[in-house]
Order: sequence, then structure tokens, then C-alpha cells
Amino acid sequence: MKRLSVLGSTGSIGSNTLRVAAALRDQFEVAYLTTHRNARLLLQQVREFRPRAVAIFDETVASAHTVEFRKLGVEVYGGFPGLLEISRQQDVDIVVNALVGAIGLQPTLNALRKGRRVALANKETLVLGGKLVMQKASQVGAEIIPIDSEHSALLQCLAGEEANAVRKMVLTASGGPFRERAAGDFQNVTVDEALNHPNWDMGPKITIDSATLMNKGLEVIEAFWLFGLDISAIEVVVHPQSIIHSFVEFEDCSIKAQLGLPDMRVPIQYALTYPERRPAEFPRLDFTQLSELTFEQPDFEKFRCLDLAFQALRAGGAAPAVLNAANEEAVSLFLSRKIKFDQVPALVEDALTNCDYNSCSSVEDLLRYDTCAREHVHRALGTPLG
Ligand code: MG
Repeated sequence: MKRLSVLGSTGSIGSNTLRVAAALRDQFEVAYLTTHRNARLLLQQVREFRPRAVAIFDETVASAHTVEFRKLGVEVYGGFPGLLEISRQQDVDIVVNALVGAIGLQPTLNALRKGRRVALANKETLVLGGKLVMQKASQVGAEIIPIDSEHSALLQCLAGEEANAVRKMVLTASGGPFRERAAGDFQNVTVDEALNHPNWDMGPKITIDSATLMNKGLEVIEAFWLFGLDISAIEVVVHPQSIIHSFVEFEDCSIKAQLGLPDMRVPIQYALTYPERRPAEFPRLDFTQLSELTFEQPDFEKFRCLDLAFQALRAGGAAPAVLNAANEEAVSLFLSRKIKFDQVPALVEDALTNCDYNSCSSVEDLLRYDTCAREHVHRALGTPLG
């Protein structure tokens, strides 16, 4: 029996993780759960899975519901310290990090320090602290298994292969909802249009990132750290059907790809059962129902966020942390209808041009750059931070 801690259990990945765990009850037990502020769903999850303790990030919500959870025999931790407390628990085998944003970095490091497997959906962990995180994992011999569908695909393609036989990795991108929309019309994109992803059902932040293609940019950085390739060996191809989740090309011209319907439960289950596979009852791909699989080059001029992510990765240091922080703030401002869609890349570029990101050797350094970038975005717009 493996014990799971699910950080961010009320979000899209978190809820799907619990569905996977419920279907594999003979193998997995849920020990800890955390939410940002969705106490109602967390209560339902507690009744179903009977964890030992939970954390609620929003302190007001945490104190309002403590009694209800305690009646069920479950301890409640509040705020960011509560989230960190849960990520440090000893009696856990796998920590599923399904948090959204840079906030996921320290919980990942805590879990790795304890030698736990981290099933990682929080790509910002690696965008922000890739070097520190990979160093920590190799120091203690802990595994990071990606949940992101592209990286899960790459990991599956690499199974049984020698690292030096890899020539390049190709991440597929759906292209998002605006693949065919003119760049000149991006200023008119509404929040509802941007939240309407053609293939994947995900949380709001990643859905906006998919519409700007920043999500693919963050995934390029994630792949760089996870698989230790040269930047020049990582490519992106637009594949609107989202059936091929990524490719690996080998030195002998052979290419492996991983395919499946766009269903996050598949990579979630693989991250939990890795390196084994277990039977699943998800919908199966029927090739006779596929009319076509198409591929095209990404448009770096139209989707500037993707280009900015490559630039930040090449710049090194804390540039990806600046990119990520500026993007988080810009996306949040767009979602609250305070800026236009085409201001997202403009604000990220402005932060990369004007924020310092040279030396970084600690989590404290990274968080300092992260804060500077967030402040810069708000200064540029004259809006309050927070
Ligand atoms: Mg992905």
C-alpha cells in the first residue's frame, strides 16, 4: 500500500488524482490533502478518503472550517505554513504536487528532502527552481515523475533507452483556441474565449497559458531540467488534435511517440504506478474514428510568450523565475479583466527587459527575483500587488 499526499486536491489535477487513487484502492491510500480555499469540496474528499490531516491555504477559510474537519477526526493546518507542514510529513510515499504557480517550489523541495517520489504537475517548480530541484533530487536519490502529459509522454518514450542515444525531444502543442485567429485581433480576445480550450479541460491559469502558448514555453523549460538536454535539442510542434503527446527522436533516425486521448488521468496514473502500468477504465483511443493527425510550426511572432520562454531559458540564472512571476501576475490581471489578452506577453517581456536576474544560488534568491518581477508588473500598470 502506497500513501499519497495530494497538494492542491480540489483543482483539476488533484480531483483527477483522487479518481485514479479511488480506482486503485488496493494500491493507494490517501493520507493528506490540501486546498487553496475550496473547503466544501475538501470536506467531501475527506469523507470519501479519510486522510490524516489537511491544509487550507486561505487562513480565513481554514479557521472557519476547523471545527467541521475536527469532527471528522482530521487535523487542519492553515496558510502557507500549513501547506509546508503537510509537504514535510514523514508517513507518505508519493507527494502529488498539483499546486498552481510558484508557490509549488518549496513543497516540492520539502518532499524531495524527505526522499519522497514527487508526482509533479506543478511545472512552475522546475521553471523557477529547476537547477536546485534537480540537484536536491539527485543528492537524496528521490524521483520526480512528471504528470504533465507531454513530459509523461517523453518519459514513456525514453523507457529502456540510453540517454546518449537521444537526438531531440519534440513537445506537441494543441495551439490553443487562437491558432487561427489573427494576431491583430488579440486585443479583442475575451476571458471566456481564452478559457474555452479546444481539447483539454483544465484549471483557469493553465488554460490561459495554453491560449498564449506560455504553457508550452514553461513546458520547454520543464523538459530542459527534467531530461537534461541542450536547449537546441528541444522543439515544439503544433498538433491540433492532441493525440500524440510528444516525440523523442533518436540518433539512428528512429522516432518514438506516445499517443492517447487527451485525458489527464492517464499521465497521473503512470506517475503513481511508474514504472509499472496498471489496467484502467478510461475511454480508449479508436484509430478508426481519427480523421487526421496534423502538424505545423508554431508561430513565434504571433505567440510571443513561447519565444520569451525560450529567451529566458537561454538567458539562464533566474530569468525563467522572472518570466514565470510576471506571467502569473499578468494572467491573474487578465482573468480579473484588468488587462487585455495581448498585454500578457508585453508585460512579461517588459519584466524580462527591466528586472535583474543574474546571480541565484538559493531558494531565497529565486523568491526575491520572483517578488521583484511581480512588483514590476504592477508598477508598470499602476495596480496594487496582491
Ligand atoms: Mg502539458
